[in-house]
This record gives sequence, C-alpha cells and structure tokens, in this order.
Amino acid sequence: MLDLFCSAIKLDEYARFYKINRLKKYMALIVQKYGGTSVGDTDRIMNVARRIKTFVDDGNKVVVVVSARSGVTNALIERAKSLNKEPDEREMDMLLAVGEQETIALTAMALHSLGVKAESRTGAQAGIHTDFAHTRARIVEITGGDIQKLLNEGKVVIVAGFQGVDDDGNVTTLGRGGSDLSAIALAATLNADICQIYTDVDGIYTADPRIVKKAKKIPEMSYEELLEMASLGSKVMQARSVEFAQKYNVVFEVRSSFNNEPGTIVKSEAPSLEDVVISGVAVDRNQTKVTLSDLPDKPGTAAEIFRKLGEGGIVVDMIVQNIGRGGKANLTFTVSKDDASKAERILRGVCSGLKGANVSLTGDIAKVSVIGTGMRSHSGVAAKFFKTLADNNINIQVITTSEIKISVGISLEDAELAASALHSAFDLDK
Ligand code: ADP
Ligand code: ASP
Ligand code: MG
Repeated sequence: MLDLFCSAIKLDEYARFYKINRLKKYMALIVQKYGGTSVGDTDRIMNVARRIKTFVDDGNKVVVVVSARSGVTNALIERAKSLNKEPDEREMDMLLAVGEQETIALTAMALHSLGVKAESRTGAQAGIHTDFAHTRARIVEITGGDIQKLLNEGKVVIVAGFQGVDDDGNVTTLGRGGSDLSAIALAATLNADICQIYTDVDGIYTADPRIVKKAKKIPEMSYEELLEMASLGSKVMQARSVEFAQKYNVVFEVRSSFNNEPGTIVKSEAPSLEDVVISGVAVDRNQTKVTLSDLPDKPGTAAEIFRKLGEGGIVVDMIVQNIGRGGKANLTFTVSKDDASKAERILRGVCSGLKGANVSLTGDIAKVSVIGTGMRSHSGVAAKFFKTLADNNINIQVITTSEIKISVGISLEDAELAASALHSAFDLDK
C-alpha cells in the first residue's frame, strides 16, 4: 500500500510538493547526497545529521550518500604524488576510498547522538559493482546489499560515495566528483521518490557564482543542458552522474545544505526560453596543454598518437595542428591536469618511434565555454563570442566548437574576466 502511494508521487511532481519544503505525510524513499563542504567538519556533519533527522521524523525512509570532507581527497592525492609521480592506480583507489569511509562513520555517529537509528555501508557493502578501471571505474551493477532490510528496520543508511568494488574484490573509485554518481545510481536502483544533491551553492547557476558575480539561479533545467555544462568543466555535478540520470530518468534537485532555499530541479524536459540563445557559461581551470613538435606531416601520425593516449585512458580535449616547416607539423592539445604526467610518459614513447619528434607540457590553461541549445538555430553567436574576447584583450590559444557550445583555451589569469564578459554579452546578467 505504502509503496503504491510512494510511486504515485512520481518524481516529476517533486517540484510541486517540494514547495512545502518538508515531505510530511508523503513517506517517500529519499536519497540525499552531501558533498565535501557540507560535511567539511564535525559541526557541519552535525548540521547534516539534524537535516536528515527532520526527514526521518516526518516518516520518510532515507539513504544518505556522503563525500569525503572537502580537501581530503586532494590531500591524499598530493601525499601519494609526493612519493611517486605516477602512483599505481589500484593503490590510489585503496587510498582515496579512505576519505569517504571517515565521513560515513562520523555521520552515523552524529545521527546516533540525535537518537536516530543509522548504519554506514562502504560502496562494496552497498553492492556497487564496477569494472576494473581504477580511478575512473564505471558502475556495472548495483545490488544494494542489505539497504532495503536496514530501511525496513527503520534505519538511515549512510553509503560511502565515490567508491565501488570490482569482481576481484578490489576497491575502485568512480572519478573525481563521483559521489554524485553514487547517489544518482542508488536513487535509480532503489527506485527512490526523490534524489537531493546537497552542496555549498543553492542550485545550478548560469555560471559558477564564485567566478561570475552576476550569475543567476536556474529553477529547472534539462539533463542535456546540465550535461553540456558539466562536461565543459562546471564541477557543480559530475558529468557522468548527469549522463546516468538522463539514461535512467532520475529527476534530482541540486540545493544547499546551508539553507532551505528551493534549488534547481533537473529532468528530461525543462521549459525552454524561446529567445534564449545561450543558457550558461562554464569555466574549467583544470587543463594542461601538451605540444608535440616536429612530427612527420603524413597520414596516420595523429591516429597513432590518439590511439596510444586512448589506450592509456586519457581523454584529449581541445586540439590544434600547425603545419611546420620541411614536412613537419606541430600538434597541441589539452588533457586534464591530473593526466598530464601520464600523457607525457605515453607520448615520449610515441615520439621515440618518430624521428626528431618532441613532446612538452606547455602550461596550464583555462577553458571558457558558452553553452546553449539555442545556438543550433541562431547565427552570430561566434561573432559575438570572439568580439567580446577581443574587446577585453583576451588572447585565444585553442578553440573548439560543437553545435551547442563554443570553447576557448585562454590563460588562467583571463578566465574570470572572460567568463564575466561573455555572461554580460549574452544577456545572462539580466
Ligand atoms: P560538492 O563538494 O558538494 O560536490 P562541488 O565543489 O563539487 O561541491 O560543486 C559545487 C561547486 O560548483 C560550487 O561551489 C560552485 O563554485 C561550482 N560551480 C561551478 N559551476 C557552477 C554553476 N553553474 N552553478 C553552481 N555552482 C557551480
Ligand atoms: N571525494 C571525491 C572527490 O573529491 C568524490 C566527491 O567528492 O564526489 O572527487
Ligand atoms: Mg562535487
């Protein structure tokens, strides 16, 4: 009876009934995810526990996914790299999973102190099965472990985000920001009524509100638009989690753990504003330029280079090729800063087989992009984009476009100015 009632409140109704803020009398199954800043210290963990308690007191079943405290994952990576520039990826996962394991236990303890029954589960215990790709594993199956049983016993279940287990029993992690994916995937598996992503901003904005002061909150948006934003480096949601939500139609809300403001609802269809050409600006400061010089200018060279990088699990982003002199070419592209050392090593190997070719890392850059499905049917976007950068004296190093975005690689110092100027130029300040 209860289950029927819950499924009747379907997720897309969430926006409507969320207006009452608490889900009193609905007795929903809720998956909540709390990010690093939200669980940043014990006071914040206590606040999170108080928030969870209000949902429990109203009769809801709650599954909570938590991240590591903010800064912990970065600190662990730094520590590993101080010992070894390219740490073994299996050991890296063993190390990184520690951050989330700390938080699940602390959150459970905080709930206990409020008299709320709660138990923590690691990714493996929650049955989050992945492939073998350490540090960027894909979820293959989620069994849920004994989550349903615990919920039926009236307990809150706290699951470690970001981690899973492969078929050999090794700990894996789901890529940076991967707790978002853990939450969305659990919500899909458990057929949750609601999935809430609690973070340190009260929703998704037209640009990162920390970079563009005039950014505006977007009340509802489609998976497609958020996916584009996330893929372009807006770290508010992990791109793969949005892809997963789209595939399994998981409606979710991004909201703040520090206030009760309504957040941003993300679903398949969102009201599109007909005359809005550009819906957002994204900034990614995590890119390193790699330059290969004096490559033989003949068919197959680029294919060989990108094949080797692909085999190494390295994603290549913006690419430019310049024709050099004497039948030689230069190729520049960007990779994620985290992959730079590995890319350099792989490319050294490739270059050793190409007479005279050289590889060098040529600096960190920012990628600034404008996004909008309206670009498909409007002309003049590129002209306005490049004029805005020129008017602000911003030098462009690399360019890439698709039918719904334009991205440029520019110096890190110019990122904030470029993002704010583009935000204004495309009327997003209003
Ligand atoms: P969490 O630790 O909760 O997962 P993240 O730091 O991963 O939080 O993501 C939240 C951050 O995303 C915000 O603090 C904000 O600076 C950044 N961000 C980037 N782009 C946007 C955007 N378009 N809207 C809102 N926040 C954004
Ligand atoms: N702690 C992990 C990270 O920093 C996962 C997450 O926060 O979502 O990437
Ligand atoms: Mg995050």
